[in-house]
Formats: sequence, C-alpha cells, structure tokens
Amino acid sequence: MPDEALAERLASVQGDVADAIRRAGRDAATVSTIVVSKFHPASLVRELVGLGVRSFGESRHQEASVKAAEVSDLDVEWHFIGQLQSKKARLAKAYARVIHSLDRDSLVTALSSTDDSVDVFAQVNLADDPARGGVPVADLPGFIDRVVGTPGLRLLGLMTVAPLDVEPRSAFARLRELSEQVQQTAPGATSLSMGMSGDYAAAILEGATHLRIGTAITGNRPPHG
Ligand SMILES: *Cc1c(COP(=O)(O)O)cnc(C)c1O
Repeated sequence: MPDEALAERLASVQGDVADAIRRAGRDAATVSTIVVSKFHPASLVRELVGLGVRSFGESRHQEASVKAAEVSDLDVEWHFIGQLQSKKARLAKAYARVIHSLDRDSLVTALSSTDDSVDVFAQVNLADDPARGGVPVADLPGFIDRVVGTPGLRLLGLMTVAPLDVEPRSAFARLRELSEQVQQTAPGATSLSMGMSGDYAAAILEGATHLRIGTAITGNRPPHG
C-alpha cells in the first residue's frame, strides 16, 4: 500500500524547495534534491522511486552497497555523503555516482585512477571540531590543488554540514565565498552540496545546487547500531 504520509512529506518539501528557489530568483534546474535514505530499508527507496525520486544519499559503505544491490533493477543514482574509510573508497565507487565527503589525502590517493573517474565534492569543516569531518578551511587551497592534480577525480565543488553553533545561513554564505576562491584554480568546481532537513531553505538562498534531505522527507530514521 502506498504510504500517504511519505508522499505528503515529499510534496511538502518539494513545495518549500520551489518557494525558496523562487525567493532566491534562481532557476529550478540548478538545484537537485538528494533524498538521504540512510538507516531506512530498500523498500523505502523503492517507494520513493515510485513517487518520482531518483537521487539517494547514504552515509555508510556497508549499508549503502547492500541497499544499492537490492534496488539494482531501478534507475537510481547513489550519492555517498558520509565519512569514508580509504580502504572502502574504491568499493564505494562501484555504486556511488558522486562522493560528497572527500576530505583527506589518503582518500584522494585511494580514489585516483587512470581508468575511470568519479564525481566528488571536497567536504569543508566549518566547525572547530575536527571530529565532524571535512577539510579545515586553512588547508583547503592545498587540498584542492591535490584533488585537481589527481587523475580520476572530477571536482564538482564544495560540500559542508552547517555547524551546530552557527546560524546556518552564515555558514552557507561562507562556503559560497570559499567556492569562489576555489574556482580560481578549479573553474569547473561550481557546485555547492549544502542544506539538510532543518536548513535547506537557507542553503538555497546561498546558492546550494545539491540538497541532502533526510528526515523531512523520510520521517524519523529507525534506530541503528
Ligand atoms: C544524515 C545526513 C543528512 C540528512 O540529514 P537530515 O537532517 O535527516 O535531513 C545530510 N547530510 C549528511 C552528511 C548526513 O549525514
């Protein structure tokens, strides 16, 4: 049976996204929504595909690879958005169209290839807490040089998670400024992966191109280990 509440939440978020795009005076074609399906079963992905969703985000390799295999009959695009171990990086590339969480030299090395390529975002840490993942702002220029100089990586742009103690819109404005600097050495890196359930409207106003929205669409995540 179709889950009406799910369809309603999806429609409601899509409406809010469209409103924010209009308020920002932006073109709707420049903003895509990735539905974060982490901790939810493959059946939820299947239902959302039935509602017209194509892009999904996952944050753990083991879970993502199993889920991707379970819906391999569907036309789905996977985005890897969580912290990735270097030794799992090549495996993630097998199903992920885009890796949003490139944040370490070891990961750059692990993903480098002369045979194939993967789309990536460099994740930036705008918090003072190193545990949150992402490249510290001070290290970003060197990191970008490294990514740009590595075969097999196509840098789409920058990704961030707004820090808890900062007004999200100012964090997103900061990422946009950093993106302008990065584009001086990586002109193609124009995309911005930012905006989650609680702050996607602010992200759109600051130029987000890839929204990563979970609970506002899926409902609460089931408990996980
Ligand atoms: C879980 C997660 C999201 C989605 O978070 P919601 O608050 O459920 O929308 C987005 N980005 C990253 C990196 C995540 O880990």
